[in-house]
Amino acid sequence: MQTRETFAGLSDWQIGVWYALIAVSTAIFAWGVIRLVLKYRRGRGSFPTDRPGRRLARTAWIVLTHAWIKRRDGVAGLAHALIFYGFVVLFIGTSILAFQDDFAKPLLGWDFWRGPFYLGYSLFLDVFGAALIVGLLILAWKRARKPARLDYGRVDGVTSPYARWRYQVGDWAFVGSLLFLGVTGFLLEALRIAETEPSFEKWAPFGWLAGQGLQAIGVDGDTAGAAHFRTWWVHGIAALTFVAAIPFTKAVHMMTAPASVTTRDDMAGRRLVELPPTPKPEEVGYGVVADLAPAHLLQLDACTKCGKCHDACPAAASGYPLSPRDLILDLREQAEGTFGIRASLGVEPLFASAANLIGNPIRPETVWSCMQCMACVEICPVGIEHVPIINHLRRRLVDRGEMDAQLQSTLETIYESGNSFGEPKRKRARWAKELGFDVKDARKEPVELLWFVGDYASLDPRNIRVTQALARVLHHAGVDFGILYEGERNAGNDVRRAGEEGLFTDLAESNIEAISACEFNRILTSDPHSFNTLKNEYPALGGSWDVVHHSQFLLELIESGALVPRRELGQRVTYHDPCTLGRYNGVYDEPRALIAATGCELVEMQRVRDNSFCCGAGGGRIWMSELKQGDAPRPSESRIHEATALERVDFFVVCCPKDVTMYEDAIKTSGHEGEIELRELTELVLESLDLEPVAAGASAAPDPEPGGGGEPATA
Ligand code: SF4
Ligand code: SF4
Repeated sequence: MQTRETFAGLSDWQIGVWYALIAVSTAIFAWGVIRLVLKYRRGRGSFPTDRPGRRLARTAWIVLTHAWIKRRDGVAGLAHALIFYGFVVLFIGTSILAFQDDFAKPLLGWDFWRGPFYLGYSLFLDVFGAALIVGLLILAWKRARKPARLDYGRVDGVTSPYARWRYQVGDWAFVGSLLFLGVTGFLLEALRIAETEPSFEKWAPFGWLAGQGLQAIGVDGDTAGAAHFRTWWVHGIAALTFVAAIPFTKAVHMMTAPASVTTRDDMAGRRLVELPPTPKPEEVGYGVVADLAPAHLLQLDACTKCGKCHDACPAAASGYPLSPRDLILDLREQAEGTFGIRASLGVEPLFASAANLIGNPIRPETVWSCMQCMACVEICPVGIEHVPIINHLRRRLVDRGEMDAQLQSTLETIYESGNSFGEPKRKRARWAKELGFDVKDARKEPVELLWFVGDYASLDPRNIRVTQALARVLHHAGVDFGILYEGERNAGNDVRRAGEEGLFTDLAESNIEAISACEFNRILTSDPHSFNTLKNEYPALGGSWDVVHHSQFLLELIESGALVPRRELGQRVTYHDPCTLGRYNGVYDEPRALIAATGCELVEMQRVRDNSFCCGAGGGRIWMSELKQGDAPRPSESRIHEATALERVDFFVVCCPKDVTMYEDAIKTSGHEGEIELRELTELVLESLDLEPVAAGASAAPDPEPGGGGEPATA
């Protein structure tokens, strides 16, 4: 009969011992899972439960396709898929065997583990067992090559109270234990085949070959039988130990990673949210571990230490004392040391439950180094929300007044004047005075398009040239547009990302009131930061409109025939995806289509679209003092080096006012002046229309006064 005995060669008491070990292993596993759940329940608020069907479907798709794991590292994705599917099939196979031996056969008299079913079962498990081993060997090989992102070296130079070599040990122990289980599983099969030689076991091709190999080196039936007995116990105890260790080791990500993906906020980072009041309601943000939301506590345990966020982070790459991976691992140590399994076992916690998150060992500089660019959130394979977590840490610091003096002064300036330049309201629309045509006041008459201009586009001299160019293009296309004049205030996107929630609410409510009093169909903005907060964050405060970025709108005008480029510009250009337009809002194609419409040839840099590299201005960093250490170029300089390394590129094209400021400066400070010029997308469009260009410096607005608070700190 084509089958085999599960407990061949084991006496009744040995089988009894085996079942007792299973009970012990399961009990330890269950205790660990309960401790984890209790830890997450110590967080603030509850897990999100909205749209459960959608959440589960999304998780199934992401887990089964490995869509997030394989991104920008196809080899790791393939290796993980081999391990994942190998493990899942072996787990299902073991469950089927347990069902047959412990339920179907003894209770129902149903013995299905024989004949064709058994042969198919053997083939399946054999092939997927081999896949598991191949995947593990690939990952071990990748790890042995010591890529920088897996070395756990700290970028902030902090001497940690816990040893990071334990991470290396934990990683190798995880890969090694799975490899051990895979190899001993095959050895077990080979010894059984060498002992009993059933020809139908050719259906387990790799086990069969290994069995033939053992016979070829002289292992006879008796030797194989004795070795099989010992190997059975070694493999079995190793498997039960692995199961028991899952909640306490790196293997925990097998449970926490899918759970993290399920509970993750789809809009994480793009739309920052309020949390329920802290245990001390007068305090906001994250100050101690108990302040963290349950989903964030869970995410800390989901981190596999893959280092992809570390690799993608412009702060880490540029010498800032921040690595998103290190931040997550530090928070994990704090959560674990405060009320995790370690604490439940009576091991003295590393941190008291009331210990401040900042200072143990996360430094304030680490939190302030973040550009809120979303590169980490976007690449994390397990859905960790670094940006909201960092933002909650900032909120507490801002609330306590513990922030960079320059940031504090800028926030005060915005509070007092409504803009980061400290300019009086009436100067906000002075750019509109020298256009040769009137720009409607949307507060006084209905318009088709309400243009929310933004601080930089309204008040920065270089950006005013772009704003005037956009006004000319809109006028030429016959667009019925108007602005809010002095009714507009800073949109608040970066104020919020700097952690000043109260000021953000104040600005948003003021803008919502001003906008709501106007009659219009759509909102246009050339500022991706304003675009993001108007589109994604204002709705929660009562301002819900159709918001369009100027790159999208200009393309619409060209596609509808309202704008007809008359001149092929013919330049070779490269394009920088702004974080708040690209990663935040998925606008990648429209700017590229516009560039093509002007007759320019687009040459892409290495880091494009969702892999774009932040200019360094985001998250309020443009308002803070420099924190960079060492000689690495600033993010904006690094980007210019990348662009000038391309063959003969004339223009560095941007479509964000802060990018205009950052890159005009970086072209000079990186030593590439004269090699490449900056162009805003609108300037290319205007040039291709062959209209009279706006004379440089035609702005009626005076330069911001020194110390106005809006100048880029890094410039
Ligand atoms: S948001 Fe950007 S700068 Fe901040 S930690 Fe993530 S990758 Fe680094
Ligand atoms: S936070 Fe995400 S991307 Fe970063 S190391 Fe952990 S799992 Fe990898």
